[in-house]
Amino acid sequence: MLRSPGHAPQPIVSRHVAVIGAGAAGLVTARELSREGHSVVVFERGDQVGGTWVYTPNVESDPIGLEPTRTTVHSSLYDSLRTNIPREAMGFRDYPFVPKDDPDRDPRRFPGHREVLMYLQDFTREFRIDELVRFETEVVRVRLVEEEKWKIKSKQRSGKEMGLELDEIFDAVVVCNGHFTEPRVAYIPGINEWPGKQMHSHNYRDPEPFRDKVVVLIGNSVSAFDISWEVAGVAKEIHIAARTVIDGTFGKQPAYDNMWRHPMIKDVCEDGSVNFLDGSIVIADIILHCTGRGWEMLKPSTHHLKLLALQSDTLIVWVIIW
Ligand SMILES: Cc1cc2nc3c(=O)[nH]c(=O)nc-3n(C[C@H](O)[C@H](O)[C@H](O)COP(=O)(O)OP(=O)(O)OC[C@H]3O[C@@H](n4cnc5c(N)ncnc54)[C@H](O)[C@@H]3O)c2cc1C
Repeated sequence: MLRSPGHAPQPIVSRHVAVIGAGAAGLVTARELSREGHSVVVFERGDQVGGTWVYTPNVESDPIGLEPTRTTVHSSLYDSLRTNIPREAMGFRDYPFVPKDDPDRDPRRFPGHREVLMYLQDFTREFRIDELVRFETEVVRVRLVEEEKWKIKSKQRSGKEMGLELDEIFDAVVVCNGHFTEPRVAYIPGINEWPGKQMHSHNYRDPEPFRDKVVVLIGNSVSAFDISWEVAGVAKEIHIAARTVIDGTFGKQPAYDNMWRHPMIKDVCEDGSVNFLDGSIVIADIILHCTGRGWEMLKPSTHHLKLLALQSDTLIVWVIIW
């Protein structure tokens, strides 16, 4: 029964609901919906739960992530990543992310990424969510059909039925496909003629490829900080270009003998030079874009969204977890 203040309880009608993605958002959504008596199918294109927190050393075929036909990798995690939010702020309210008394676990308040994955696996086991998940099954299309139901087309990604497509009808869809998978890169005049390499932090795993190189890193947020400190340990020089830097923090950085901060890049040239807005110039081997990621679009048309505003019993929602 649903209760709202001042209103009589409303009986819940059980719905057939599709949840797309078995990351943190999809897992908690599936649990809440099944608790309310809905029949839930979770579509997950990977082979396990955890989404972003499933680390892989694999990277995409295009290191900068612009080639539309590139082989894609979901997670942006680098090997050394620790959470930037304390564990007590990351757990679900009724299933706190507490340190475990187990030598294989990471008890730190800001634990490494493997600990977050283990927490999500514990949550999945505890509430038997894996029974609801269809692994290696990718949703390739979501469409509102005439009867005001959602048609989901999914595709098998492995096994005997690899490539097989299936159409199914659902009363509602919850899109939990993550929002950190499409690299965003800075526009740099002259980049097509510049002879160096480029990479996006989505494809950064460890500092080794930067050993003895002159690196220009663009960005001024969490991953830019983490990665610049790590790369400084092996690179010949690292030059950080940032749009938003407090005056007085430019130039050689204290505590490092190979790190400089600059304002944004003005342009780059065929001779390998990178020119910054303050007139400084470096000849660099590689530009590393730590400039964030965006949505991988999976959404119905605007027309469908307008229809949804008018219908209470046919619903599509997005769930985003930071
Ligand atoms: C580098 C980095 C560091 C972060 N650090 C922190 C941190 O310290 N603390 C914190 O709280 N948050 C952090 N976050 C945010 C993190 O994204 C969230 O914690 C959370 O994991 C997001 O969960 P999600 O379920 O929304 O998405 P995801 O974890 O991305 O899961 C989406 C799932 O959907 C699946 N999927 C996608 N498309 C389809 C499809 N078409 N069909 C079937 N399945 C599909 C994917 O395979 C994936 O399993 C960080 C993110 C990044 C990228």
